[in-house]
Amino acid sequence: MAHETVHVVAVVGAGPAGLFAARALAAAGCRVLLLNRDIKPGGLAEYGIFLNKYKMKGGLRRQFQKILTDPRVTYLGNVTVAQSGDLTVDDLRGAGFDALVFAIGAQGTKYLGVEGERLPGVYHAKDLVYHYNRLPPFSEQAFPMGRRVAIVGVGNVMVDIANYCVHFCDCDTVVAVARRGPYEKAYDDREFEDIEDAFDRDLYRAEIARIRPRLEAAGQDADALLHALGQRPEPERRTRARLGFRFLASPRRVLAEGGTVVGLEVEETRLEKKGERVNAVGTGDVAVIPCDTVVFAVGDRVDPAVGLPYRDGLYVTRPGADPVYQVWDPATQQDVPGVFVVGWARRASDGVVGRARLDAETGVKQVLAEVATKPARPAAEAERVIAGLVDTLKARGAAVVPYADVVRIETAERERAAKAGVEEDKFAANRDMLALLRAD
Ligand SMILES: Cc1cc2nc3c(=O)[nH]c(=O)nc-3n(C[C@H](O)[C@H](O)[C@H](O)COP(=O)(O)OP(=O)(O)OC[C@H]3O[C@@H](n4cnc5c(N)ncnc54)[C@H](O)[C@@H]3O)c2cc1C
Repeated sequence: MAHETVHVVAVVGAGPAGLFAARALAAAGCRVLLLNRDIKPGGLAEYGIFLNKYKMKGGLRRQFQKILTDPRVTYLGNVTVAQSGDLTVDDLRGAGFDALVFAIGAQGTKYLGVEGERLPGVYHAKDLVYHYNRLPPFSEQAFPMGRRVAIVGVGNVMVDIANYCVHFCDCDTVVAVARRGPYEKAYDDREFEDIEDAFDRDLYRAEIARIRPRLEAAGQDADALLHALGQRPEPERRTRARLGFRFLASPRRVLAEGGTVVGLEVEETRLEKKGERVNAVGTGDVAVIPCDTVVFAVGDRVDPAVGLPYRDGLYVTRPGADPVYQVWDPATQQDVPGVFVVGWARRASDGVVGRARLDAETGVKQVLAEVATKPARPAAEAERVIAGLVDTLKARGAAVVPYADVVRIETAERERAAKAGVEEDKFAANRDMLALLRAD
């Protein structure tokens, strides 16, 4: 070890935020233990980024590999930190680390309170994304997609879900449902190019005509939208499935007959400007979008069952104007000393990998400032802290997966893919990955 004395920090979660936090901490001379719920690292970079974005995922995996082979970083996969997990937050707080960094993403579900949103055939985007990207246990659960899919939301995740529907499922129609209008769409046009071949321009023109009076009442230019549409190059090929939009529609309930989804009831909305913000206000008129599958792509919340102070979908951080990463207990009005959150665990569903990296790196500066108030200790002592936690996990019978074993799994997956002549072939079940490790 290059440093005679070190601080030792546990990072929980090995998605982009946790991995880049680990890199920044190691670069500052810390010894880092990285604990991850999933067997494999990467988080949504591995299990969220769209199926066929192989180049992007490959590039990120190579960056992550460098971090995970740094001798100052120890990775342990298949370890959940939660009230009913392999370790609790208190276990970690009592284990002798100088700081704990939670980079566990946003694993909770944001329910809108819409009647019927837990019916079969109604999915939350994250679960479906985890399913098609083969994250256990979602990979083992069935997510049957019907012929007519309504996706609630108009962000980049909607684009990914639509991409899945029109290119990987047997759908006829996909409709993206937005409470507000085309000017308030949240997806990036570059992302939309991936589904341009399904986008039905006639449907779009008809939809703009339908909502024109409401756009104009809000001072928005409907003709400019049609003009912009005319400027877009026509795709060379078209999918059988047709993609449309339903703007100015607020979901009220999912309609079902005999337990089968038959439609999404929406309330029509109009737009109301409030300063810079454009709000949707219900008009009282109700309509039904016929569909047999509904996917809510409206962002996520953090998981309240982890055991960190939680309020309104977020972990609580110390009040302050600038981004604060220090976890705060509202009951005692005190810091939870040495405990920090970064990435989507700090701000759920906030941006791309680059943003999560920046957030982690900014957060680590605050972590290092806290750590600097504590005495560094001999490297051997830091190793004992980590070994102590590994012993605890073993005593509890946890099937911990170190990075060397992740490499073995990934090697086997590459071999499977080569054999099958496909780009990727991930194991769909934890037990298959663990069986492989036992068999070798
Ligand atoms: C559908 C979708 C598509 C996306 N596509 C792109 C894209 O094309 N390009 C791009 O740049 N960005 C994309 N993003 C955004 C990007 O994935 C995120 O910005 C980034 O992954 C957030 O990183 P994170 O580390 O904060 O959280 P996550 O990536 O969610 O990582 C969280 C990690 O914590 C672990 N964990 C969770 N709970 C626990 C626990 N209790 N105990 C221990 N470990 C735990 C998980 O196993 C996981 O490894 C996409 C996101 C989504 C949802």
